[in-house]
Amino acid sequence: MLRFPYNGNRVKTFYIETFGCQMNAHDSEKVVGTLVGQGYNQVETPEEAELVFYNTCSIRDKAEQKVFHRLQQFKRDGKGKTFAVLGCVAQQEGEKIFEKAPHVSLVCGSASYNKLPELLVQLESGNRRVTGLSLDTHDTFETPITRRDNPHRAYITIIEGCDKSCAYCVVPFTRGPERSRTSASVIAETLELVRSGYSEIQLLGQNVNSYRDPSPAGWDFAALLDNVGRVPGIRRVRFTTSHPRDFVKGIIDAIETNPTLCNHVHLPVQSGSSRILEAMQRLYTREEYLRRIEWMKASSRPIAISTDIIVGFPGETEADLEATLALLEEVEYDSIFSFKYSRRPNTAALELGDHISEEEKTRRLAIVQEKQRAIQIRRNAAWVGTVEECMVEGFNKATGQWIGRTSQNKLLNFLRPGGDEDLLGSYVDVRVTRAGPNSLAGEAVN
Ligand code: SAM
Ligand code: SF4
Repeated sequence: MLRFPYNGNRVKTFYIETFGCQMNAHDSEKVVGTLVGQGYNQVETPEEAELVFYNTCSIRDKAEQKVFHRLQQFKRDGKGKTFAVLGCVAQQEGEKIFEKAPHVSLVCGSASYNKLPELLVQLESGNRRVTGLSLDTHDTFETPITRRDNPHRAYITIIEGCDKSCAYCVVPFTRGPERSRTSASVIAETLELVRSGYSEIQLLGQNVNSYRDPSPAGWDFAALLDNVGRVPGIRRVRFTTSHPRDFVKGIIDAIETNPTLCNHVHLPVQSGSSRILEAMQRLYTREEYLRRIEWMKASSRPIAISTDIIVGFPGETEADLEATLALLEEVEYDSIFSFKYSRRPNTAALELGDHISEEEKTRRLAIVQEKQRAIQIRRNAAWVGTVEECMVEGFNKATGQWIGRTSQNKLLNFLRPGGDEDLLGSYVDVRVTRAGPNSLAGEAVN
C-alpha cells in the first residue's frame, strides 16, 4: 500500500506542476499556500517529493492527455510517492482516474479546493483514495496564505465557475456554477497585496465581467474594477477573461476615467460568423460583438484588443472562415489565441453533424495565424518612435535586454546603457526603436 512516510517530525515534501490557464496557475498558488500552511515543504522536482500534484487542464484533448502522460512516467518508478490529480481533468474524469492510473491517491476538482486541507488529513491518516468532486459548492476558494510566483504582479480571483453553456466547452462541467467573491474581500486582498509590495493586479475569472457582488454593496464588474484601481499604491490593473455578452460600456467608461486600468481588453469572439456563433451558443452576433469593439475604438485611451478564435467548429464552411478572417482585418487585433476545435466530453457540439477533419482544421488554423501575423507586424510597427511606460518583468542575460510589458500588454525588450541597478518590478519609460510580430524593442529614456 502506498503511504506517506509521515512519521515523527519529518518534513513532508511536495511538488506541483500546473497545466493550462491563469486561473489554474493562480489556483496552484493557493494550493501551495494551503500546503505550506499545513507544514509541507515545496520542492523543485517530482523525484525529490513525497507528494506529487498535477493541476490539470481539460479545455482541449491535448491538454488532457499531458497529465496521463506524466502519470505514466511514474507508473513504475513512483514507489513511495503519493500522486494527486487536481483541476479540470480531476473533475471531468473523477474516480475513473484511479482505474487509468492506479498509483493516484487524491482526485480533487477546483470547485472542491476548499476541502483540500480535510482531504490531506484523510490521506495522512492512511486513506488509500480520497476525492473532492462535488460541484454544488457555493463557496469560493479563499486561503489564508497564497504563495505567489511573481513578486510584482498578483492574480486575484473575483469569480469562479461559469453559467454559460457554449456548445464546445467543458468549463461549466469542470469548474461548476458561477460564484462571485464579495467586493469587500477583493478590496481587502488588494490592500494586503499593496502592503506586500505588489503594484500590478490581474483580476481573474472565466468571465470576470459576469461578476455580481453577493454582498449588499451589489457592485457590478465595472464598479469593482474601478475601485480596485483606486486602491492607493496600485499602478496597474488588468482583467481576464471578459465575455462579449456581458461586456457593458461602463467597463470602457471606467478605463477612460481611471489611469491605473490598463489599455487592454481581451474579448474572445471565437468566430466571425453569426451562424457559427449561434451554433456555438455564444449569445451574441458578429454585429453585437463589433458594437463593443466600437466603444473601445472610440475611447480616448489607446486600448489594445485581443481575442480567442476557434477554427473548424462542426459545420464551419469556407464562407464562415472568410467571415472570421474579415473580422480579424476589421478589428485589427493586437494579438489572438487561436485553436483547432477539440471534441470535449458532455458538450452539446458532440451531437452536431459535419465534424471537420483534423487535416482541414490544421489548414484553417494556419490561414488564421498567417493573417494575424501580418496584422501584428503592421500594428506593432506603428509604435516605433513612441515612448511607452514598461513594468520590468525580467532580464535576458543572453541579449543584455530588460523584458518589460506595456500597459497594452505588449512585450517591450529594452537596453539601458550605463545603468546597472536592478530594475525588476520597476516602471521605466522606453523609446520603441524596432517592432516585430510578437514584441517591440527599444531603449530606456529614464
Ligand atoms: N470564458 C471565456 C470566454 O467565454 O470567452 C473563455 C475561457 S476558455 C478557458 C479559453 C478559450 O479556450 C476559449 O475562449 C476558446 O477559444 C478555447 N476553447 C474552449 N473550448 C475549446 C474546445 N473545445 N476546442 C478548442 N478551443 C476551445
Ligand atoms: Fe466556456 Fe463559454 Fe463559459 Fe467561456 S463562457 S468558460 S467558453 S462555457
